[in-house]
Amino acid sequence: MSTNCLFCRIAQGDIPTQFLYEDELVVAFKDINPQAPQHILIIPRKHISTTLELNDEDRVLAGHIHLVAGKIATQLGFAKEGFRIVNNCNEGGGQVVWHLHFHLLGGRQMTWPPG
Ligand code: AMP
Ligand code: ZN
Repeated sequence: MSTNCLFCRIAQGDIPTQFLYEDELVVAFKDINPQAPQHILIIPRKHISTTLELNDEDRVLAGHIHLVAGKIATQLGFAKEGFRIVNNCNEGGGQVVWHLHFHLLGGRQMTWPPG
């Protein structure tokens, strides 16, 4: 836990945030600057800066995040239509918040390649 990490503070409940999903490992909430009609962030409760800081003990967590993404997409009704899961890693990957998070995007046709 880091008191100066925005997403740690959200996960701990220090910053009032409506969770669309939560369990012992992760919380999920709406992105403040949505890039699609559905844009949800899924984050571990535990502080991990980037994908590169995941280690062997996080295997279950990393897989769990993907299961949760599918559950949320199904629950919100856009799973069948299609969706995208994105993790931006480091500056070149477009990461600006240094607490691991996965973007779940849906509700519109996705394009490829991404920007
Ligand atoms: P990234 O570029 O992958 O690091 O994405 C960080 C994401 O966090 C961006 O999509 C932001 O809009 C989002 N974000 C930043 N602050 C908040 C916040 N307080 N609540 C929800 N989403 C946030
Ligand atoms: Zn953190």
